[in-house]
Amino acid sequence: MTIESGTARKSEHPSGADQRQGIEEIDILWISEGMSCDGDTVSMTASGQPAIEDVVLGLVPGLPKVNLYNKVLSPTVGGEDFLAPFRAAAKGEQPHPFILVIEGSIPNQNIIEGDGYWTSFGNDQETGEPLTLNWWLDRLAPRAWAVVAAGTCATYGGIHAMAGNPTGCMGLADYLGWDFRSAGALPIVHLPGCPIQPENFMETLTWVLHHAAGSAPPPPLDHMLRPQWLFGKTVHEGCDRAAYYEQGDFSKDYNSPKCQVKIGCWGPVVNCDVPKRGWMSGVGGCPNVGGICIGCTMPGFPDAFMPFMDEPTGGSLSSTLIKPYGAFIRRMRGLTNIAVNREPKWHHNGPELTSGYDPHWRA
Ligand code: SF4
Ligand code: SF4
Repeated sequence: MTIESGTARKSEHPSGADQRQGIEEIDILWISEGMSCDGDTVSMTASGQPAIEDVVLGLVPGLPKVNLYNKVLSPTVGGEDFLAPFRAAAKGEQPHPFILVIEGSIPNQNIIEGDGYWTSFGNDQETGEPLTLNWWLDRLAPRAWAVVAAGTCATYGGIHAMAGNPTGCMGLADYLGWDFRSAGALPIVHLPGCPIQPENFMETLTWVLHHAAGSAPPPPLDHMLRPQWLFGKTVHEGCDRAAYYEQGDFSKDYNSPKCQVKIGCWGPVVNCDVPKRGWMSGVGGCPNVGGICIGCTMPGFPDAFMPFMDEPTGGSLSSTLIKPYGAFIRRMRGLTNIAVNREPKWHHNGPELTSGYDPHWRA
């Protein structure tokens, strides 16, 4: 059961974006000064296919030359050295097209206008006052060849935008507008996850870079601007505990290898590929390895899924309905399993051949 409403196509060929750009050198300007923990930057470094090093060193055939500006991975000592390309881009003076990557949710500066700063990135060189993330977005986003939101905070607001937060923060599309188009004619590319699954992000970035090189169409995104090939299926559809669900066999505590729907797993209604893909090199994940899915990729996260360790209401209904069928099927399969766990009786070392072999050819 794919959640169809979550996978409707939005932008397989956004107007204008299918023109071949043929960009030879591109900058990635990465700002994690949203309401952020930098977890997406850290997570991205765990990707192996491709690794960020491969992209930056030009080891992936067909990509433009990539210059990465990310504070965690910067070879500068910070300060003005680090800020220089961002300042140049804000004035339209950066020599190459750039991809703007935003990490963290966007605070609502309007609710405290003139009364401080929720978050900032560098200072105004004339006044010495902090420059807000909002200031940077207003200048960089319209000039960016592509805009990528890394993580659920930047895409949909995430944990920092939960009910009761004081910053009124939001995702990038809520700030820039859902119909925003970059200078490269692309919609905002959303890569949700809290944090991003490393290869989900690098694969998407690589697709955007191939598109920049003119060697790929724009990445196909769904109505929430997520890559379709990564978020088109549910957690449950890729969970290797789903057989337990089908047999009505549910965990009662967190030490069990069985399906965890009754102890809080939201997998059947969440769009994410982590259990199918694993976390690093196929190792790890969430419900597949014993951690309930809390829906961390979803626009409704976290409020729609809390309290996390309670059974989802829908899960209660479906797991109750499947119990009689599951118990019967489990019993039948158990009997067949006993039967097929025996070797055939003609496997022996006796003096007579009993396999049924007949040497005479018959028409
Ligand atoms: S653990 Fe969660 S995702 Fe896995 S089968 Fe059970 S309900 Fe589905
Ligand atoms: S399986 Fe669930 S908790 Fe794990 S990354 Fe995906 S959405 Fe988040």
